[in-house]
Amino acid sequence: MSDETVHIKSYGCQMNKLDTALVTSALKKAGFSLTDSAKEADVVLINTCSVRDHAEQRVISHLGHLQHIKKSRPEMIVGVIGCMAQRLGVKLLEHNAVDIVCGPAQIPQIAKLVTKALQGKKETIAVTDKIRQKTDEDQAQALEDFESAYGIEDRYIPGQAYVRAMRGCDNFCTYCIVPFVRGPEVSRPPKAIIEQIKKLADAGVKQVTLLGQRVNAYKYKSGKKTWCLADLLRMASDVEGTEWIRFVTSYPSEEFFDEILQAMADLPKVCNYLHIPAQSGSDKILRAMNRHYTAGRYLAMLAKARAIVPDIAIAGDFIVGFPGETQADFEVTVDLVKKAQYKNCFIFKYSPRPGTNADKRLQDDIPLEVKKSRNIKLLAVQEKISEQLSAEFLDKEVTVLVEGLSKKPHLNDTEGGDKPQLIGRTATDYIVVFNGPLSLAGQFAKVKITKTSPLTLFGALI
Ligand code: SF4
Repeated sequence: MSDETVHIKSYGCQMNKLDTALVTSALKKAGFSLTDSAKEADVVLINTCSVRDHAEQRVISHLGHLQHIKKSRPEMIVGVIGCMAQRLGVKLLEHNAVDIVCGPAQIPQIAKLVTKALQGKKETIAVTDKIRQKTDEDQAQALEDFESAYGIEDRYIPGQAYVRAMRGCDNFCTYCIVPFVRGPEVSRPPKAIIEQIKKLADAGVKQVTLLGQRVNAYKYKSGKKTWCLADLLRMASDVEGTEWIRFVTSYPSEEFFDEILQAMADLPKVCNYLHIPAQSGSDKILRAMNRHYTAGRYLAMLAKARAIVPDIAIAGDFIVGFPGETQADFEVTVDLVKKAQYKNCFIFKYSPRPGTNADKRLQDDIPLEVKKSRNIKLLAVQEKISEQLSAEFLDKEVTVLVEGLSKKPHLNDTEGGDKPQLIGRTATDYIVVFNGPLSLAGQFAKVKITKTSPLTLFGALI
């Protein structure tokens, strides 16, 4: 056992949040205690994201801050884990602050690496130069064991947990670094996933979110049988104690699409929410991105989703300023956003990621000013749509799963001000702010909506 303290800072997507929960749990079981203070910690780990340059710059700036702390506490150990660790590998050890580098495929080794570094040993790097090769059986088993042994108690939000359905990605969208840092697509065995969901339900988890870079492509074969995401949703629905089931992120592909929508329509526990990034409305840009659909096919998929699950809420992602994006390409993207009627959209300015096909083959030829103005315009178009869709909730009652205290209580004026301001989400992923007792965190509550804004509904606890 150890009495050293560890502080973990996490950047990036839900996959990273899940990895952070697993690492936290593994370190606790190895005898370390967790601390909120980086300044006082014996070990600081940063779980990194490489998807956008901005995310990496934040990590670099954080490392600069830690280097400063290390001047007065040189014994402090700093580790970089996650996608940036895999992308940069040994180069990260050249940074004065960094002692440990550990890629996503090596996280089962994290407690060992931390212990070694604390003992002053130098071999504290675990990344692979064969990230695109199929993991050997031992490594695959180590990842499975790590996944099922840890993370049950360590959750970001009370009553909720992420469960990995798939690792990696084989899609090679030209702008994306994920296939190069998270390796080939592997679907986890359904039995292992359901076992984990059962354990989480026993520990009081009401909502599980199945994760995969293209979670709708989940496919597991054993003997003559093949399981797809719809099968997994049906099996998860049978787990007693699990109340809501979500899955992210979906890739616009017709394979299994109808089956998944039908499962959503049939199974009350499966939340009527689909996050399905389009990235562009221009077929020319979609081809350049190596996305395997057209704008027309994408819109047909949304129409089908709404026909099978009438109250479905749909969210999208877009990249503006991709190489070669003309004003006409951008205008058809605006047009697609108007037709898609998303609940909300995540809109990013293109930034080349080293090692990706877009970076190697395409010139980043759209000026930053143009990217910014397209970003602002697309956000404004979406904001109007979100505003109209949110307004439909006025005076209605909704059920939310309560997450905890609202992060910006001073900004929101809701009724019942003597109680703390809480935040929750509907099954269709609408954020709801209301006043109520903090004991509701992790529980379901009914709220009457009294005011709406594009991204938030406000109401009173019933
Ligand atoms: S589907 Fe495309 S964008 Fe998503 S993780 Fe795979 S390569 Fe990246």
